[in-house]
Amino acid sequence: MPGILFTSIGWGNLGLRLNDAPEDVTRRRENLRKSLSLQSLVFMKQTHSNRAELVDGSIPTIDSDAIVTSQRGVGLAVLVGDCLPILLRSAHGVAAIHAGRVGMVNGIVASTLSQLRSLGESAIDAIIGPSICADCYEVSPEMYEEVVSTVPAAATNPQVHQLNLQAGVTRQLANEGVEVLNMGICTKESGDFYSHRRSLSENLAEGRQVGVIYL
Ligand SMILES: [Zn+2]
Repeated sequence: MPGILFTSIGWGNLGLRLNDAPEDVTRRRENLRKSLSLQSLVFMKQTHSNRAELVDGSIPTIDSDAIVTSQRGVGLAVLVGDCLPILLRSAHGVAAIHAGRVGMVNGIVASTLSQLRSLGESAIDAIIGPSICADCYEVSPEMYEEVVSTVPAAATNPQVHQLNLQAGVTRQLANEGVEVLNMGICTKESGDFYSHRRSLSENLAEGRQVGVIYL
C-alpha cells in the first residue's frame, strides 16, 4: 500500500516563492523527507498547466503540475494553499496532482491519468485532500461562466458564482473510472491548514502545505 500524508500548519510552510526564508523551507522539506524515510522527495514548480511528468527521484524539482512514479522510496509532493491536492494510486504507480481552477479547466486530471496508465493498466483510486470548498470560492461572473462551460460539474448557483472545484475534479476522475475519496476539509474554514484566501481576508502570512504519496 502506498503511503499518504497531508501536512498541516504544524509542519510549517513548505512553499518557496513566498515571504519566508528559503533555507527554512528547505530544512522543513528535508525534515519531512527524513520523517517519511524517503530516498527523495520531489516537488513541482507549479504553473496551473496540464503537464504531468514521470519522475525517478533524480531531479528534486520538476516544472509540471502533476508527477507520476513507479519507484519505491520516491515521494511525490504537491504544494497547495486552497488548490486541490489529488493523490492517485494504481497497481503500477502513484501520482500527485496540483489542481486549481485553471489546471482543472486545462485538463491536468486527464494528462495525469494518461501518464499513470502508461505504467500499466489497472484500477486507480484517488484522494482529494484539504482544499477550498464551494461556499468559500466565489469568483467573477465571467470566470464562473468560463469554468462551468468546460467543467459543468463545478457549477453551483449562477446567481452567486461559487465554483465547486472538488465536485469538478471528482466528476473528471469518475468519468475515467477512478474511485474518488474526498476528505471534505475546507482549507479556508479549517484553522489547521494554510489558505490563500484566508491569508488575504485575515491578513495572515501566506503558507503552503503538501500532499505526499509514495510507494
Ligand atoms: Zn469553505
